[in-house]
Amino acid sequence: MITLKGINKTYYTEATSLHVLKGIDLQINQGEYVSIMGASGSGKSTLLNILGILDNYDTGEYYLDNKLIKNLSEKQAAYYRNEMIGFVFQSFNLINFKNALENVALPLYYRNISRKKRNMIAMEYLDRMGLKDWAAHMPNEMSGGQKQRVAIARAIISQPKILLADEPTGALDSVTTIEVMKVMKELNQNGLTTIIVTHERSVAEETKKIIHIKDGLIENIENRL
Ligand code: ADP
Ligand code: MG
Repeated sequence: MITLKGINKTYYTEATSLHVLKGIDLQINQGEYVSIMGASGSGKSTLLNILGILDNYDTGEYYLDNKLIKNLSEKQAAYYRNEMIGFVFQSFNLINFKNALENVALPLYYRNISRKKRNMIAMEYLDRMGLKDWAAHMPNEMSGGQKQRVAIARAIISQPKILLADEPTGALDSVTTIEVMKVMKELNQNGLTTIIVTHERSVAEETKKIIHIKDGLIENIENRL
């Protein structure tokens, strides 16, 4: 599903450069449940953003579903992102002036699906997240865990092949963290390849493979079964 070969990424600012990824080799197969751990600033988000085609890399190769993701035009990148990838962020990134149902339905708007059909499908996804009764509520009326489940519903409504989550429980307390990780586990059990960046050991331990990154390289991979 995902193959990375010798991925390098350097950030250049006015005076300095920062070599963040120094040759990442990685293989993630369809249906895997993986977490990425590492110290703050070790390049976890950079790596996840490259996987999510939100950012470019300098050298190396990234194959997604056997397609080389490299030097894509903005339009091609958007196409693969929309077809293949669901993204979940620490800060939920919901639209504050839209209710839960509208937030979940949004990706379908860009696929020219009628409002009636969008809302019907969005309601199914909210229901899967246990949030049917919250459809008409605004984000600021919901708990962190509920907001993240709305964000997950939005991320999977276009039926991506891969779900990428950058510190999805980073803003949650321990009870809602468990709630969100339960949803993640169910999605993976239904076949969704899932990759979670976290610095919480307890979250990583929910996954089946923990990738440790340090100083721009994969330090080791823990298989857990
Ligand atoms: P992590 O998610 O593991 O905390 P990041 O991938 O966000 O780490 O960042 C790795 C390093 O790259 C950090 O030192 C960060 O400050 C730097 N960095 C991240 N994004 C940029 C950027 N757009 N421009 C310059 N430096 C960046
Ligand atoms: Mg980060």
